[in-house]
Amino acid sequence: MPEKLKERYEETDLYKIRHSAAHVMAQAVMEMFPGEARIAIGPPIADGFYYDFDLPRSLTPEDLQAIEKRMRQIVAGQHKFERQEVSADEARAQFKDQPYKIELIDGLDKGGVDEYGNPTTEKPVISFYTHSTFTDLCRGPHVEHTGKINPSAFKLMSIAGAYWRGDASRPQLQRVYGTAWKTPKELEQYLWQLEEARKRDHRKLGKELGLFHFSDNIGPGLPLFTPKGEMVRHLMESYVRETQTRYGYQHVWTGHMVKEELYHRSGHYENYKDAMFPPMEDEGIKFRLKPMNCPSHMTLYNEMGKHSYKELPLRFAEFATLYRYEKTGELSGLTRVRALTQDDCHVFCRPDQIQDEFGLCLRLIREVLAHYKFDDYYVRLSLRGDATAGKYVQDDEKWTLATAALKAALDANNVEYESVEGEAAFYGPKADFIARDVLGREWQLSTIQVDFIQPARLGCEYTGEDGQAHTPVLLHRAVTGSTERFLGVLIEHYAGAFPMWLAPVQAMMIPVADRHIPYAREVAEKLKAEGFRVEVDERGDRMQSKIRDAQLQKIPYMLVVGDKDQEAGAVSVRLRSGEDLKAKPLAEFVALAKEELSK
Ligand SMILES: [Zn+2]
Ligand SMILES: [Zn+2]
Repeated sequence: MPEKLKERYEETDLYKIRHSAAHVMAQAVMEMFPGEARIAIGPPIADGFYYDFDLPRSLTPEDLQAIEKRMRQIVAGQHKFERQEVSADEARAQFKDQPYKIELIDGLDKGGVDEYGNPTTEKPVISFYTHSTFTDLCRGPHVEHTGKINPSAFKLMSIAGAYWRGDASRPQLQRVYGTAWKTPKELEQYLWQLEEARKRDHRKLGKELGLFHFSDNIGPGLPLFTPKGEMVRHLMESYVRETQTRYGYQHVWTGHMVKEELYHRSGHYENYKDAMFPPMEDEGIKFRLKPMNCPSHMTLYNEMGKHSYKELPLRFAEFATLYRYEKTGELSGLTRVRALTQDDCHVFCRPDQIQDEFGLCLRLIREVLAHYKFDDYYVRLSLRGDATAGKYVQDDEKWTLATAALKAALDANNVEYESVEGEAAFYGPKADFIARDVLGREWQLSTIQVDFIQPARLGCEYTGEDGQAHTPVLLHRAVTGSTERFLGVLIEHYAGAFPMWLAPVQAMMIPVADRHIPYAREVAEKLKAEGFRVEVDERGDRMQSKIRDAQLQKIPYMLVVGDKDQEAGAVSVRLRSGEDLKAKPLAEFVALAKEELSK
């Protein structure tokens, strides 16, 4: 598939529409509180926009309706957006009653921050955008006039508290979120997606399905998995492990703690110390919980003795639980945790093997994503940009070689990809797999990174054909990312209905009356002997409510057994979808379930 260059969000029509809608909203709010509203910032964000206000009272949902109504009137007025460059003093005069804008203007005047308060190296240009009666400190871009905002394709969504510049010691502002699209249909699709995502929220489903818990007694971001949850983890990890073994990867184990000194040498201390938990000290030596495996795998490589070029590539894989210091406010269910089990791998190879090894990783990732029913994905290739070359390790030849190898492997494997210049890590180019789930949301799952730096830092070597010592190239690679995050994504992707092979309980035996319990147990034993995960619901509840419970648990098969089934050596099969497959001889059900397993 051909390479394509992705249009930057800032350059899209949607960005302009959303940015313009933010201005229109600010105008409506200013009119609602004449002379009293203080405005802060109002940028476009993914799927929408927001604006932060300092107002004399809290906004209500009724206010949002009124603001939306006024916005539609402003939109209908087709007011032109006009840009004007001004001096800092002119800007201060315009916003003399707007303290937040004055602070931003001072920042722009001094340089180093943009009009949203974000750091920048660009030369500050102070500009206004004016439409109708509203003027904002703004660099744009905007639509031509307010009429380009479709009045039926935007909606104000919610009000939240936000500190000025994210600083809890500064005033708390009211942030109004909105969403804007090109057509009402796009808006409708987005709202449906939000609603569906809410229903599928893995934090909610995880509890209902009895998969995992978080406990104050353990601490934030440290999930506890129930027997069912651990069964799913185990199945996920075994599957990836078996697949990796088939592709020639070897599994290693390197523990949970490492001397801090190693991270000073590898460079991780310098670059990632904020993501590590504080050190533990013993006999004057500092230890760290492992935030990543790379230095451990390279140390293992070195400890295994001298390596010849003939031994390479060496592929070390590990399911290692890593500990990362995430701020408690940023933790989110399983998708952002402090203890994560990465399906990590490090490939030590010669420079001439990069393309083959990268190709192997691609095929492995493709196979695994397809197995999990992620059919819709693309690759984002992060490369060194010319303009940003200074940021990167100076070794043009290696960069050129690796970039060409990656592109060739992507082409050879017919993988759709887009290149992003200037986004590479400092140690080499990387490829991220972005998969779309059934709701069309994008998740960055797999990643492959080429590394020219770390092996040299930790003294990894191999003896080349020329008898000389050479430094291997390292590929860092993760297939599903981490078990925890991937499980969170899977729960939402499947809406909790795991495919048969991954379902923690595959069949629930439901005896119609107590007298059918012995037969139900007998069938369960037979099915277990065939390798199925089966439970018997022996509670005294009515059959209908047992069926309902099993359906809510999203168990693939409910096997109801009564007098007739018992006499015939059969089971009455129901699916979690509610479909009734009626009575089947046990052997026929086994054949059916085995077929489902392979899907
Ligand atoms: Zn603006
Ligand atoms: Zn690594």
